[in-house]
Amino acid sequence: MTDLNTIGEIGLIDRIRQATPAPQHAETIRGIGDDAAVFDWGTDYGLLSTDMLVEGIHFDLTYVPLKHLGYKAIAVNVSDIAAMNGLPIQVTVNIGLSSRFPVEAVDELYDGIRAACEAYNVDLVGGDTTASRSGLIISVSVLGKVPKDLITYRNTAQPNDVVCVTGDLGAAYLGLQMLEREKQVFLADPNMQPDLSEERAYLVQRQLRPDARTDIVHELRDLGIRPTAMIDISDGLASELLHLCRQSGTGAVIFDENIPLDDQALLAADEFKISPVTAALNGGEDYELLFTVRPQAFEKLSTNARITAIGYLTADPDQVVLATKAGQQTPIRAQGWVAGA
Ligand code: ADP
Ligand code: MG
Repeated sequence: MTDLNTIGEIGLIDRIRQATPAPQHAETIRGIGDDAAVFDWGTDYGLLSTDMLVEGIHFDLTYVPLKHLGYKAIAVNVSDIAAMNGLPIQVTVNIGLSSRFPVEAVDELYDGIRAACEAYNVDLVGGDTTASRSGLIISVSVLGKVPKDLITYRNTAQPNDVVCVTGDLGAAYLGLQMLEREKQVFLADPNMQPDLSEERAYLVQRQLRPDARTDIVHELRDLGIRPTAMIDISDGLASELLHLCRQSGTGAVIFDENIPLDDQALLAADEFKISPVTAALNGGEDYELLFTVRPQAFEKLSTNARITAIGYLTADPDQVVLATKAGQQTPIRAQGWVAGA
């Protein structure tokens, strides 16, 4: 038998994709391989995406409030719809519950789910409920839509496109480090109070209650800009950039000094003795958007504080590099996912 870790998550998904027959329906425009599946819905394209959160793998209930978890479960799914340049319409929520969860816990979870549905203007329309032997499992599916002429895939970027990211990166990972540290302190001495001061609030919030960037989808539409390619940043900038480049057949030059980092992230990175750029590249869970635009289109975005140009695409698919101020270039590599880690 082959250990899952020898092929990793990407290898495993590739294996499933290769063994999956071509779509039987003319309506199926895209299947496995992008942030959401795409189907022909008349004047619009329909979008369908699903994501699962498993206790002990994706979250730790010792410091994750259920309300935040409910919100996050919806936000991370909506993020995949935004990554197709679409907007969400409906969600279904499947939950697996072990007997240690009282009714009130489920109420709390759904408070968060409902808050997110309101924030993203999406209807909760169904789901499934089951018992679980391994704690809490939440799986959300989201249905969305996008006008056909605005659909944005991962594989349609071109050399010379400007590479942009929304918001700032690395904060969610540093927030997780902070929460993990406080947990260790608490486990060592349960009388200790967590030291999550105001200055840390942003990092912790980025980890516990991320937001999907549907605001950027609206903004790009208002400006009449359709990105040439887009993906959401769930696994870190490095991994998402490599997906976009590999699928588009391009290379990229990213300037490390341009990667947007919050002041609190800089302070925390210093404290944890990790490079803030590494946190941005490999940390994950920021749920910002990584997208590319033609250089002419970027002119309309250059004054937008929520969008940062971090580099450009090149024609050489073997060169996805991080460039330093001093002109040094180092290849960007993705950190692998590990089964059960
Ligand atoms: P994201 O990080 O955007 O949620 P994933 O890396 O989970 O995307 O998935 C990449 C692609 O692979 C998507 O098209 C997704 O639908 C597909 N995929 C992931 N897991 C499976 C699976 N178990 N079976 C079939 N397709 C899958
Ligand atoms: Mg995605």
